[in-house]
Amino acid sequence: MKNPSKISNLKFLFFSLILLICSQAVLAGIFTLSQQQEIVLGAQAATQVERTQQVLNDTETTKYVTEVGQRLVSRSQRSDIPYRFRVINSKEVNAFALPGGFVYINRGLIEQADTENEFIGVLAHEVSHIVARHSAEQVEKSRKANLILGGAGLLLGGARNGRALFNGAQLLTQGVFLKFSRDAEREADRLGAKTMFDAGWNPQGMVSFFQKLAQRGGSNVAFFSTHPSPQERYNNIADLTKAWVNKGSIDSKQFQAIKTRIASFPKPRNSNNRQQMR
Ligand SMILES: [Zn+2]
Repeated sequence: MKNPSKISNLKFLFFSLILLICSQAVLAGIFTLSQQQEIVLGAQAATQVERTQQVLNDTETTKYVTEVGQRLVSRSQRSDIPYRFRVINSKEVNAFALPGGFVYINRGLIEQADTENEFIGVLAHEVSHIVARHSAEQVEKSRKANLILGGAGLLLGGARNGRALFNGAQLLTQGVFLKFSRDAEREADRLGAKTMFDAGWNPQGMVSFFQKLAQRGGSNVAFFSTHPSPQERYNNIADLTKAWVNKGSIDSKQFQAIKTRIASFPKPRNSNNRQQMR
């Protein structure tokens, strides 16, 4: 005869396990940002960026940056969302990506890159932040933090309509989208180097550009201010890309034509709203 207390113990264990699995699933569902939510947040933040930063409205430049950007996207591991590339009319050497496919490159960065593959190295790094969902992960972390801080009710409301608590413009101002961990930065470098190589560019451009920027300004260069040290980065990439040293294209006539074109435009005004754009 079976021991009844043993059976009820087993039942209790079984139901506890089911409950645990269900609660984990519910929590994961609350915290996880769907692709659609990610795109909505990115679009809200992009509107905010373009309200406060001057976008360079030059059809030729936007067309070129979009073409090379899409070439990278097509060789990336996340080509199923739309991407949009824009140049910001700022002298500062910087670039950033928002969740959901929005990529911004400063005019100053194009001016400082001597060859196309140097410019592509940064573009590929930014695309890789989107591919690896780094901003989306930041939002998910911030949702968890809000729950811990006692905002459970708000959180549930926010999760339902995707807007109430998590407005893209607000998250941008709080720096949620643009402060990645150093590991995330390293991952974006790794993925970026591989993607640019697969798309036909020599990834040594990433190494030479980081070296150049480090010599020219080090951590004063905005692009480096929240990233691992430039030296560590170009050592990592140099190691990773050793086997590809002599492969892939380095420069193009189109890139040099865009540089000449940009040089003929009036000097940009200095931006007053650059603090969150890192
Ligand atoms: Zn980065």
